[in-house]
Amino acid sequence: MSTVLRHAVFGQPIAHSLSPRIHPRFAEAAGIVIRYEAIEAAPEQFAAILARFHAEGGIGANVTLPLKEQALTLCQSLTPAAQRAGAVNTLIRTETGWQGDNTDGIGLRRDLLDNLGFALQGRRVLLLGAGGAARGVAPALLDARIASLMLCNRSLERAQALQAALDAAAQVSVCRFSELAAAGSFDLVLNATSASRGGQLPELPTQLLGPGALAYDLSYGQAAEPFLHWAGQAGARASDGLGMLVEQAAEAFQRWHAIRPDSAPVLAWLRQV
Ligand code: NDP
Repeated sequence: MSTVLRHAVFGQPIAHSLSPRIHPRFAEAAGIVIRYEAIEAAPEQFAAILARFHAEGGIGANVTLPLKEQALTLCQSLTPAAQRAGAVNTLIRTETGWQGDNTDGIGLRRDLLDNLGFALQGRRVLLLGAGGAARGVAPALLDARIASLMLCNRSLERAQALQAALDAAAQVSVCRFSELAAAGSFDLVLNATSASRGGQLPELPTQLLGPGALAYDLSYGQAAEPFLHWAGQAGARASDGLGMLVEQAAEAFQRWHAIRPDSAPVLAWLRQV
Protein backbone atom coordinates (compact mmCIF):
# COMPACT_ATOMS: atom_id res chain seq x y z
CA MET A 1 0.00 0.00 0.00
CA SER A 2 1.43 3.40 -0.93
CA THR A 3 1.64 6.22 1.61
CA VAL A 4 -0.01 9.52 0.74
CA LEU A 5 2.50 12.32 1.28
CA ARG A 6 0.88 15.51 2.53
CA HIS A 7 1.73 18.96 1.16
CA ALA A 8 0.18 22.41 1.11
CA VAL A 9 0.64 25.99 0.04
CA PHE A 10 -0.09 28.64 2.68
CA GLY A 11 -1.03 32.25 1.94
CA GLN A 12 -3.77 34.85 2.12
CA PRO A 13 -5.55 34.99 -0.27
CA ILE A 14 -4.77 31.52 -1.60
CA ALA A 15 -7.68 30.42 -3.78
CA HIS A 16 -5.92 31.75 -6.92
CA SER A 17 -2.77 29.65 -6.36
CA LEU A 18 -1.70 27.38 -9.23
CA SER A 19 0.53 25.24 -6.97
CA PRO A 20 -2.25 22.69 -6.22
CA ARG A 21 -2.42 22.08 -9.98
CA ILE A 22 1.33 21.90 -10.53
CA HIS A 23 2.52 19.53 -7.80
CA PRO A 24 0.06 16.66 -8.40
CA ARG A 25 1.22 16.65 -12.05
CA PHE A 26 4.85 16.36 -10.96
CA ALA A 27 3.88 13.60 -8.52
CA GLU A 28 1.91 11.65 -11.11
CA ALA A 29 4.87 11.69 -13.50
CA ALA A 30 7.16 10.55 -10.65
CA GLY A 31 4.81 7.73 -9.58
CA ILE A 32 4.28 9.28 -6.14
CA VAL A 33 0.90 9.72 -4.44
CA ILE A 34 0.58 13.14 -2.80
CA ARG A 35 -2.17 15.23 -1.31
CA TYR A 36 -1.55 18.94 -1.97
CA GLU A 37 -3.95 21.54 -0.58
CA ALA A 38 -4.23 25.33 -0.65
CA ILE A 39 -4.62 26.48 2.97
CA GLU A 40 -5.65 30.03 3.74
CA ALA A 41 -3.67 31.39 6.71
CA ALA A 42 -3.91 34.85 8.22
CA PRO A 43 -0.51 35.97 9.59
CA GLU A 44 -1.67 35.78 13.21
CA GLN A 45 -2.85 32.18 12.73
CA PHE A 46 -0.02 30.89 10.55
CA ALA A 47 2.15 29.41 13.35
CA ALA A 48 -0.76 27.39 14.76
CA ILE A 49 -1.96 26.29 11.30
CA LEU A 50 1.55 25.13 10.35
CA ALA A 51 1.89 23.21 13.64
CA ARG A 52 -1.43 21.46 12.98
CA PHE A 53 -0.35 20.67 9.41
CA HIS A 54 2.76 18.95 10.77
CA ALA A 55 0.79 17.10 13.48
CA GLU A 56 -1.50 15.77 10.75
CA GLY A 57 1.43 14.42 8.71
CA GLY A 58 2.51 17.40 6.58
CA ILE A 59 6.05 16.93 5.28
CA GLY A 60 6.54 19.86 2.92
CA ALA A 61 4.87 23.12 2.02
CA ASN A 62 5.05 26.24 -0.09
CA VAL A 63 4.52 29.71 1.32
CA THR A 64 3.30 32.77 -0.52
CA LEU A 65 2.15 36.32 0.23
CA PRO A 66 2.02 37.65 2.91
CA LEU A 67 3.73 34.88 4.91
CA LYS A 68 7.20 34.50 3.37
CA GLU A 69 9.05 36.61 5.95
CA GLN A 70 7.09 35.14 8.86
CA ALA A 71 7.83 31.61 7.65
CA LEU A 72 11.51 32.37 8.19
CA THR A 73 10.88 32.83 11.92
CA LEU A 74 9.09 29.46 12.17
CA CYS A 75 12.04 27.47 10.80
CA GLN A 76 14.65 25.61 12.86
CA SER A 77 17.18 25.85 10.00
CA LEU A 78 17.56 27.87 6.81
CA THR A 79 19.32 27.26 3.51
CA PRO A 80 21.75 29.97 2.30
CA ALA A 81 19.16 30.99 -0.34
CA ALA A 82 16.52 31.64 2.34
CA GLN A 83 19.01 33.50 4.53
CA ARG A 84 20.08 35.77 1.68
CA ALA A 85 16.50 36.40 0.55
CA GLY A 86 15.28 37.02 4.10
CA ALA A 87 12.20 35.04 3.08
CA VAL A 88 11.06 31.42 2.80
CA ASN A 89 8.87 30.04 0.00
CA THR A 90 9.55 26.33 0.64
CA LEU A 91 9.30 24.40 3.92
CA ILE A 92 10.92 20.98 4.27
CA ARG A 93 10.20 18.86 7.35
CA THR A 94 13.35 17.40 8.87
CA GLU A 95 13.92 15.39 12.06
CA THR A 96 14.68 18.59 13.92
CA GLY A 97 11.86 20.77 12.57
CA TRP A 98 11.17 22.89 9.51
CA GLN A 99 13.98 23.78 7.17
CA GLY A 100 13.27 26.96 5.18
CA ASP A 101 14.44 27.40 1.60
CA ASN A 102 13.83 29.98 -1.11
CA THR A 103 13.52 28.63 -4.65
CA ASP A 104 12.32 31.85 -6.36
CA GLY A 105 15.82 32.86 -7.50
CA ILE A 106 16.79 29.49 -8.93
CA GLY A 107 13.31 29.22 -10.46
CA LEU A 108 13.81 32.48 -12.35
CA ARG A 109 17.29 31.45 -13.49
CA ARG A 110 16.02 28.13 -14.79
CA ASP A 111 13.14 29.74 -16.65
CA LEU A 112 15.45 32.29 -18.26
CA LEU A 113 18.07 29.76 -19.30
CA ASP A 114 16.20 26.49 -19.89
CA ASN A 115 12.88 27.78 -21.22
CA LEU A 116 13.79 31.11 -22.80
CA GLY A 117 17.41 30.44 -23.81
CA PHE A 118 18.61 33.62 -22.07
CA ALA A 119 22.05 33.32 -20.43
CA LEU A 120 22.63 35.81 -17.60
CA GLN A 121 26.40 35.96 -17.52
CA GLY A 122 27.77 39.38 -18.49
CA ARG A 123 24.33 40.98 -18.86
CA ARG A 124 23.24 44.42 -17.65
CA VAL A 125 20.10 43.86 -15.60
CA LEU A 126 17.44 46.28 -14.37
CA LEU A 127 15.25 45.00 -11.55
CA LEU A 128 12.06 46.97 -10.90
CA GLY A 129 10.83 46.54 -7.33
CA ALA A 130 12.50 45.80 -4.01
CA GLY A 131 9.85 43.72 -2.26
CA GLY A 132 9.91 40.03 -1.35
CA ALA A 133 10.18 38.76 -4.93
CA ALA A 134 13.06 41.13 -5.76
CA ARG A 135 14.89 40.07 -2.59
CA GLY A 136 14.44 36.44 -3.61
CA VAL A 137 15.82 36.81 -7.12
CA ALA A 138 18.57 39.45 -6.74
CA PRO A 139 21.17 37.12 -5.11
CA ALA A 140 20.56 34.48 -7.79
CA LEU A 141 21.15 37.08 -10.53
CA LEU A 142 24.47 38.06 -8.98
CA ASP A 143 25.44 34.39 -8.57
CA ALA A 144 24.90 34.01 -12.33
CA ARG A 145 27.68 36.59 -12.83
CA ILE A 146 25.69 39.35 -14.47
CA ALA A 147 27.75 42.45 -15.36
CA SER A 148 25.66 44.89 -13.33
CA LEU A 149 22.39 45.18 -11.45
CA MET A 150 20.35 48.35 -11.14
CA LEU A 151 17.60 48.31 -8.52
CA CYS A 152 14.74 50.70 -9.14
CA ASN A 153 11.99 51.09 -6.58
CA ARG A 154 9.22 53.53 -5.72
CA SER A 155 10.63 53.78 -2.22
CA LEU A 156 14.35 54.43 -2.68
CA GLU A 157 15.10 53.43 0.93
CA ARG A 158 13.84 49.92 0.27
CA ALA A 159 16.08 49.62 -2.82
CA GLN A 160 19.03 50.87 -0.76
CA ALA A 161 18.28 48.32 1.97
CA LEU A 162 18.33 45.54 -0.64
CA GLN A 163 21.56 46.90 -2.12
CA ALA A 164 23.17 46.86 1.34
CA ALA A 165 22.04 43.27 1.92
CA LEU A 166 23.63 41.98 -1.28
CA ASP A 167 27.18 40.64 -1.13
CA ALA A 168 28.39 42.21 -4.38
CA ALA A 169 27.41 45.80 -3.61
CA ALA A 170 29.99 47.17 -6.07
CA GLN A 171 28.02 45.83 -9.04
CA VAL A 172 24.70 47.08 -7.70
CA SER A 173 23.26 50.59 -8.07
CA VAL A 174 19.90 52.06 -7.10
CA CYS A 175 17.57 54.65 -8.59
CA ARG A 176 14.05 56.04 -8.57
CA PHE A 177 11.58 55.59 -11.43
CA SER A 178 12.01 59.30 -12.27
CA GLU A 179 15.73 58.66 -12.89
CA LEU A 180 15.25 55.85 -15.41
CA ALA A 181 15.28 58.18 -18.43
CA ALA A 182 18.98 58.80 -17.74
CA ALA A 183 19.79 55.18 -16.85
CA GLY A 184 20.79 53.98 -20.32
CA SER A 185 19.77 50.60 -21.68
CA PHE A 186 19.77 47.04 -20.36
CA ASP A 187 19.89 43.47 -21.66
CA LEU A 188 17.22 42.31 -19.22
CA VAL A 189 14.45 44.32 -17.57
CA LEU A 190 12.64 42.43 -14.80
CA ASN A 191 9.36 43.68 -13.38
CA ALA A 192 9.15 42.50 -9.76
CA THR A 193 6.66 45.16 -8.67
CA SER A 194 3.07 44.38 -7.83
CA ALA A 195 1.92 47.62 -9.50
CA SER A 196 0.21 45.83 -12.40
CA ARG A 197 -2.08 43.97 -10.03
CA GLY A 198 -3.99 47.24 -9.93
CA GLY A 199 -3.67 47.54 -13.72
CA GLN A 200 -0.91 50.15 -13.34
CA LEU A 201 2.61 50.37 -14.66
CA PRO A 202 5.20 52.90 -13.52
CA GLU A 203 6.45 55.30 -16.23
CA LEU A 204 9.06 53.29 -18.15
CA PRO A 205 11.07 54.83 -21.03
CA THR A 206 11.40 52.38 -23.95
CA GLN A 207 15.13 53.18 -24.25
CA LEU A 208 15.61 50.89 -21.23
CA LEU A 209 15.33 47.94 -23.62
CA GLY A 210 18.64 47.65 -25.48
CA PRO A 211 19.06 45.72 -28.75
CA GLY A 212 17.99 42.08 -28.24
CA ALA A 213 16.81 42.80 -24.70
CA LEU A 214 14.37 40.59 -22.85
CA ALA A 215 11.55 42.10 -20.79
CA TYR A 216 10.33 39.74 -18.07
CA ASP A 217 7.43 40.19 -15.65
CA LEU A 218 7.54 37.98 -12.57
CA SER A 219 3.75 38.00 -12.43
CA TYR A 220 1.52 36.17 -14.90
CA GLY A 221 -2.00 36.25 -16.24
CA GLN A 222 -3.77 39.58 -16.26
CA ALA A 223 -1.27 41.15 -13.88
CA ALA A 224 1.53 40.79 -16.45
CA GLU A 225 -0.40 42.38 -19.31
CA PRO A 226 0.55 46.09 -18.89
CA PHE A 227 4.29 45.28 -18.78
CA LEU A 228 4.13 42.83 -21.69
CA HIS A 229 2.18 45.44 -23.68
CA TRP A 230 4.87 48.05 -22.92
CA ALA A 231 7.62 45.66 -24.08
CA GLY A 232 5.65 44.74 -27.20
CA GLN A 233 5.26 48.39 -28.15
CA ALA A 234 9.04 48.78 -27.87
CA GLY A 235 9.46 45.76 -30.18
CA ALA A 236 11.25 43.74 -27.48
CA ARG A 237 11.01 40.06 -26.63
CA ALA A 238 8.93 39.54 -23.53
CA SER A 239 7.81 36.86 -21.09
CA ASP A 240 5.57 36.57 -18.08
CA GLY A 241 6.56 34.70 -14.89
CA LEU A 242 4.55 31.51 -15.36
CA GLY A 243 7.72 29.59 -16.20
CA MET A 244 9.36 30.88 -13.03
CA LEU A 245 6.37 29.68 -11.03
CA VAL A 246 6.65 26.18 -12.47
CA GLU A 247 10.45 26.09 -12.07
CA GLN A 248 10.38 27.24 -8.42
CA ALA A 249 7.77 24.51 -7.83
CA ALA A 250 10.02 21.92 -9.52
CA GLU A 251 12.88 22.96 -7.22
CA ALA A 252 10.61 22.58 -4.16
CA PHE A 253 9.43 19.17 -5.37
CA GLN A 254 13.05 18.07 -5.73
CA ARG A 255 13.81 19.18 -2.16
CA TRP A 256 10.89 17.08 -0.83
CA HIS A 257 11.20 13.94 -2.94
CA ALA A 258 14.79 13.93 -4.31
CA ILE A 259 13.32 13.65 -7.81
CA ARG A 260 13.72 16.39 -10.41
CA PRO A 261 10.39 16.72 -12.24
CA ASP A 262 10.20 17.54 -15.94
CA SER A 263 8.76 21.06 -15.85
CA ALA A 264 8.22 21.51 -19.62
CA PRO A 265 4.99 19.46 -19.99
CA VAL A 266 3.46 21.11 -16.93
CA LEU A 267 4.32 24.60 -18.19
CA ALA A 268 2.87 23.77 -21.64
CA TRP A 269 -0.30 22.42 -19.98
CA LEU A 270 -0.72 25.55 -17.81
CA ARG A 271 -0.38 27.77 -20.88
CA GLN A 272 -3.37 25.96 -22.40
CA VAL A 273 -5.80 25.84 -19.45
P1 NDP B 1 5.77 42.87 -2.31
O1 NDP B 1 4.46 43.38 -1.79
O2 NDP B 1 6.76 42.34 -1.34
O3 NDP B 1 6.52 44.08 -3.10
C1 NDP B 1 5.81 44.88 -4.01
C2 NDP B 1 6.77 45.73 -4.82
O4 NDP B 1 6.01 46.44 -5.83
C3 NDP B 1 7.51 46.80 -4.00
O5 NDP B 1 8.78 47.00 -4.56
C4 NDP B 1 6.62 48.02 -4.22
O6 NDP B 1 7.31 49.26 -4.08
C5 NDP B 1 6.23 47.85 -5.66
N1 NDP B 1 5.01 48.55 -6.03
C6 NDP B 1 3.74 48.29 -5.60
N2 NDP B 1 2.86 49.13 -6.19
C7 NDP B 1 3.60 49.97 -6.99
C8 NDP B 1 3.25 51.05 -7.87
N3 NDP B 1 1.98 51.47 -8.03
N4 NDP B 1 4.26 51.65 -8.55
C9 NDP B 1 5.54 51.24 -8.41
N5 NDP B 1 5.93 50.22 -7.59
C10 NDP B 1 4.96 49.61 -6.89
O7 NDP B 1 5.39 41.81 -3.45
P2 NDP B 1 6.35 40.65 -4.00
O8 NDP B 1 7.70 41.21 -4.18
O9 NDP B 1 6.23 39.42 -3.18
O10 NDP B 1 5.66 40.30 -5.42
C11 NDP B 1 5.85 41.13 -6.56
C12 NDP B 1 5.28 40.42 -7.79
O11 NDP B 1 6.04 39.27 -8.11
C13 NDP B 1 3.84 39.94 -7.59
O12 NDP B 1 3.07 40.30 -8.73
C14 NDP B 1 3.97 38.44 -7.47
O13 NDP B 1 2.83 37.76 -7.95
C15 NDP B 1 5.19 38.16 -8.34
N6 NDP B 1 5.88 36.91 -7.94
C16 NDP B 1 5.97 35.90 -8.87
C17 NDP B 1 6.62 34.70 -8.56
C18 NDP B 1 6.70 33.61 -9.59
O14 NDP B 1 7.03 32.48 -9.23
N7 NDP B 1 6.45 33.89 -10.85
C19 NDP B 1 7.21 34.46 -7.23
C20 NDP B 1 7.09 35.60 -6.34
C21 NDP B 1 6.43 36.76 -6.70
P3 NDP B 1 7.48 49.97 -2.61
O15 NDP B 1 8.61 49.24 -1.93
O16 NDP B 1 7.81 51.38 -2.92
O17 NDP B 1 6.17 49.80 -1.90
